[in-house]
Amino acid sequence: MDGLNKFIYEIGSDSAFSILARSNELLKQGKKVINLGIGQPDFPTAPNIVESAVKALRDGNHGYSSSNGILELREAVANDFQNRNNVKVDPNDILVTPGGKAIIFYTLLIFGQPNVEIITPDPGFIAYRSMIDYMGAKAVALPHRMENNFSFDAEELLSLINEKTRLIILNSPANPTGGVVPVAELEKLAKGLQKFPNVFILSDEIYSRILFDGHSHTSLMSFPEVRDRVIVLDGWSKTYAMTGWRLGYGIFPKKIFKFAEKLAINCHSCISIPTQIAGIEALKGSQKSVNEMVKEFQNRRNFLVDQLNLIDNIQCKKPGGAFYVFPKILINNKTSKEISNYLLEKKFVATVPGSSFGDNGEGFLRISYASKIENLKQFIELLKEFMNE
Ligand code: PMP
Repeated sequence: MDGLNKFIYEIGSDSAFSILARSNELLKQGKKVINLGIGQPDFPTAPNIVESAVKALRDGNHGYSSSNGILELREAVANDFQNRNNVKVDPNDILVTPGGKAIIFYTLLIFGQPNVEIITPDPGFIAYRSMIDYMGAKAVALPHRMENNFSFDAEELLSLINEKTRLIILNSPANPTGGVVPVAELEKLAKGLQKFPNVFILSDEIYSRILFDGHSHTSLMSFPEVRDRVIVLDGWSKTYAMTGWRLGYGIFPKKIFKFAEKLAINCHSCISIPTQIAGIEALKGSQKSVNEMVKEFQNRRNFLVDQLNLIDNIQCKKPGGAFYVFPKILINNKTSKEISNYLLEKKFVATVPGSSFGDNGEGFLRISYASKIENLKQFIELLKEFMNE
């Protein structure tokens, strides 16, 4: 077809959503599908959060709000960020968006163009790569290897930078691996980046509250060497089980913020006020449900990792965060896509093939444990059956 932006042919899509659609078809046909494909908490949003939005609707908050987000919400975000990371943030540098994904979209609209290189995790969240390709920029894969607990090596990252590099994308805790980057590696990176003052970093910290074994999060923004060129992405989707509300935020360096805000005005205009009020309640209200959810995720992680490692020809690391495990499936002559398809069509279990997260994901499956422990137990039995066939 002629007449379209030639890069539209390059844009990828999130296979978790197509797998979800196929799972729903199978469900309609009466099959009992265990969905370990989609990345969303299986918990409801806490009642106090829901009630705050209902009240806001009843109180007549039906109009537009300011494009960057209402001040009280941005102040709550700044406070929360300071409490967790010990970094002071100006609420005027915060852009509230319809989910964290919009921050990826806008950041890549700002940085991506032909002749530019963008370093991105491999395996990594699909939206990064799709948007880099769509902008006509070159995606440079930063390997996150199993041997390295799915973190990166700062020296390897620094060696990928050249005069065309404009942006580095990082994600810890990570989708699809659950890997957490050690603070020492971030320190090395921040020091090394002093040599490359024109390179910006998009630090996707959307899983920063879902950490296990007592670990706390360190934001890349807490390193003074890079403080003024880090864009932080975070939001409510995962932490507060609010995926469907579409609420996220970015913290931008001052010189970039105004461009991101203009993109927001031209695209989504603003976020519904009841949703923003729910976001304030989430941050300021009780954190009990967050803590309980994380505890439950940790139990499920422990169960899955132990069980997976008992199966011949499967190797699984114990991830430090998020709600995914990323086991290596050692089956000759079968791609991860074939394995994932087979599991869905024959065993009615949805997973996501590792290869859809980049070349380094081949041979792995992403399994989301945002699903009841009974489902995980059944999954293990079905997987054993499959491995013995
Ligand atoms: N970043 C990562 C790494 C994710 O896994 C997701 C959701 N799958 C997002 C960003 C976007 O989250 P949302 O738009 O739902 O807030």
